[in-house]
Order: sequence, then structure tokens, then C-alpha cells
Amino acid sequence: MVIIAGAGPTGLALACGLRQYGVDVRVVDAADRPATTSRALGVQPRGAEVLYRLGALGDLPDKAIRLDALRLNGVQRLDLRPMAGAGALIASQTWVEARLRDRLSALGVEVEWGTPISEVPVSDDDWLVGCDGAHSAVRKMAGISFDGEAVMENFLLRDVHARWDLDRSSVHIYINDGGLTAIFPLPGDDLWRVMSPDGRWAPGEIDAVDWESTFRIHKRLASTYRRGNVFLAGDAAHIHSPLGGQGMNTGLGDAENLAWKLALVVQGRASEKLLDTYEAERRPIAAAVLGSTTPATRISMGSGRVQRLLRDLVVFPALSLPPVQRLIIGFASQLGVKYSGPLAVGKHGGERMPAFARTGKWVLAGPSTCLEVARDRLGDVVHHERAGDTLLVRPDGHMAWRGPSERFSAWLNEVLGVPETPRLTTRS
Ligand SMILES: Cc1cc2nc3c(=O)[nH]c(=O)nc-3n(C[C@H](O)[C@H](O)[C@H](O)COP(=O)(O)OP(=O)(O)OC[C@H]3O[C@@H](n4cnc5c(N)ncnc54)[C@H](O)[C@@H]3O)c2cc1C
Repeated sequence: MVIIAGAGPTGLALACGLRQYGVDVRVVDAADRPATTSRALGVQPRGAEVLYRLGALGDLPDKAIRLDALRLNGVQRLDLRPMAGAGALIASQTWVEARLRDRLSALGVEVEWGTPISEVPVSDDDWLVGCDGAHSAVRKMAGISFDGEAVMENFLLRDVHARWDLDRSSVHIYINDGGLTAIFPLPGDDLWRVMSPDGRWAPGEIDAVDWESTFRIHKRLASTYRRGNVFLAGDAAHIHSPLGGQGMNTGLGDAENLAWKLALVVQGRASEKLLDTYEAERRPIAAAVLGSTTPATRISMGSGRVQRLLRDLVVFPALSLPPVQRLIIGFASQLGVKYSGPLAVGKHGGERMPAFARTGKWVLAGPSTCLEVARDRLGDVVHHERAGDTLLVRPDGHMAWRGPSERFSAWLNEVLGVPETPRLTTRS
């Protein structure tokens, strides 16, 4: 049994992923009911792909706003259409969670609300995954440190109803006597998210405040993502600035990565060694998010004179440059994620393969002799007959292996190892 602590986007996505492979899961959450206030306001293209593969994207593309541009004091500085074209959606985190819960329910599992993980018996034969957010009890129980620091002390976030004369397909940044204020349109006729480290400036009258929160931005990264049978994913493993909208999306990526690996091990198709690739692949992604969002936050939102000069004279003008735009969009979309290691072998190994990004299953392109081996070790495999090099694409759409067909079986045995079935105790 896999026990998942936390029914936020990460825990729900992990549960859906595991259930899709037929693995038994229990999802417990300390809260009495689902959250009603949204934190993440958007799904990045990569996050939308993950939701699609999990069967949980649903009607989000129809209900969401697609942003065309970033405007600075009313002037367009960044063309966001490539991002929208790649699938970026402005859609509330509560909507994402609701779609994932519906999907999980269809897969036969209901979240157990009002059930903190400390009250759940976990046996040596269970796997426990802490998807229980920034203050993760699982992380503390496992004795995993969460090192880092505060990036910004006071950050004000408000969802407000207002009839402002602003384009509702742009994100608006204002720099004025009120400091820096970022304004995003939210789905709904008159709903906006206003974010500011500086104050409460607004471009007009506010009719009503839906929700407001002042918080401190931290950057922290778990020292390890695994201790024995215990894993961490999502905010339990990494937190950082919301600038760039990477948090929920990184958690969804963690969940998908862990789901298919854990499923192979739980089902006795692979040895536990495979699970080490989860941290090896996903922790560097989180480290890169921390490494980019922290300076971006300090420069764009910092109050120091040097930071402001750098922001106003260098950073914001540079946003108009096409290479800078491509860099930002490539990073923020998370479509450029590339893995390295044993599951990323050969030409294009580890790269996302757009042609297979929506398949959600192993894809083998090669001779049918390889197909027998692949199905024996991996289960469900989509097959395309192909001459020349054999290719294997992972369920998360990344190239796993490319090479001569006669080497395929040896590589598969090497990377999956000899499964320990029946699995006895696996705690280290
Ligand atoms: C103000 C704000 C704005 C943000 N804006 C964005 C954005 O625009 N884009 C973006 O991508 N990200 C954004 N984020 C980050 C995003 O919200 C998180 O990255 C995301 O919620 C992480 O999902 P998660 O499932 O890992 O954790 P969470 O969503 O925190 O879910 C954790 C779950 O675990 C449960 N839990 C806690 N303790 C226990 C326990 N002991 N036992 C069992 N269950 C427990 C909680 O009740 C909760 O349901 C924002 C965050 C904040 C705070």
C-alpha cells in the first residue's frame, strides 16, 4: 500500500498516477475539507500536460484565461502568446485540485479528510509519501532537513472584485509611488489577483476583497527526497518565490515522476534502485527553480536602491529582447526540462519528446522482438514498428533510451534491476 499524506495538487496527482497503474493508495489529509482559497493562479504548459496524462485536465482549458502579454505601466514588454500557445492557463489551484479529486474518485479512491498522518499506522511494508506541504510532518518524522532562508519578509496577495479599465488578457505590472504591484486577471467577470511587496496601491476602486494574505517568501530545499520507504514531493520537498508560477507545477512533475517508478517497484517489475532516480531527476529541477526565482524576486521586488536601478534600467528593458523572452518562456513553461542518468540514454536521451507528450504510456519504436521484452518488464507499452535505432519513451514523455535493438534487453535489466519479490522490509 502507498500512503499519501496530503491532498493538495501533488498528493492528488501522485494518487491518480499510481491508481492509473492499478496500485492501492490511501490519501489522508489533516484538513477537514478541501481548501477554498486559491494559491497558485496558473498552470504552466508542463503542468497542463501532466494533468492531461493523468486524465484530470478536464474543462480547464475552456474555463481558463490565456495571457497574451505582460505590460509594464501600461506598455507591452513581454509577448506571452508563445506561452499561451504552449498551453499555459490562468486557472485557480482549487479548480485543479477539484479536477484531480474527480479523477481520483473515478479511479476508486476518496480522500480521507480530518486525518493527520500522525494518526495513520504505517507498516514496514507500506510506502509513505509526504505531499503535506511546506510544514511537512512526514519530512520532520523522517528527520530530513529543509535548509534555506527567507527571501522577502512581507508579500501581500489579494484576490479582489473590481471594474478596472485594464486588458483582461495581460498581466499588468505597475511601478510607481506605491512601489511595485503585479495584477493578474482571474477567471470571472471582475476578479483580479493583486500582489505587492510594497503596499496596497491599486489602479482604481476595489468593490470587494475575496481573499487576502500576507506571507513571507522562503526558499528551502529538502536535503534528500527519500529516506527508506519514505519520500517527499511538492512543497514538502521545495518551496520558493511564487514569481514565475512554478510551485504547483513542480509538484505535479514530482508526482508524475514518482508515480510510474513506484508503480513498477510495488508491482515487482523493478528493484528499489529505480527509486533513486526520482531524487536524482527531480531535485535538480527544484534547485534550478530556487536558483532562478530567488534572484528574480530580489531584483524585481526588492526595495534597495541598487535593486531598483538594476530592475528599471536593465531587467525590465531586457524583457523586450526576443532571446530573453525565449529564455524566460522556455524556463517558465517547464517544457525544456531534461533529465540525465540511467533513464536518459542515447541521442536525445532525457529530452521531452513533444510527439509523445500526450500518450501517457511507455512507447516503444522498434522491432517486435523488443516489444515482448518491454511488455514483460514494463507492462502496458504502445508499439510502433521502426527500422534503425530502437527508441523507448517514458510515460512522462521523455526519451528513456535509444540504441541498437540487441542492447535493449540488457539496458532494461540494468536500469530496472532484479525485483525483490515478494518485498519484505525495505526500510534503510
Ligand atoms: C500565496 C501563494 C501563492 C502562490 N502562487 C502560486 C502560483 O501562482 N503558481 C504556482 O505554481 N504556485 C503558487 N504557489 C505555490 C503552490 O500553491 C504550491 O506549490 C502548491 O500548493 C504545492 O502543492 P502541494 O500539494 O505540494 O502542497 P499543498 O498544496 O500545501 O498541500 C498540502 C496538503 O497537505 C495537508 N497536510 C498538511 N499537514 C498534514 C499532515 N500532518 N497530515 C496530512 N495532511 C497534511 C494540507 O492540509 C494540504 O491539503 C503559491 C503559494 C502561495 C502560498
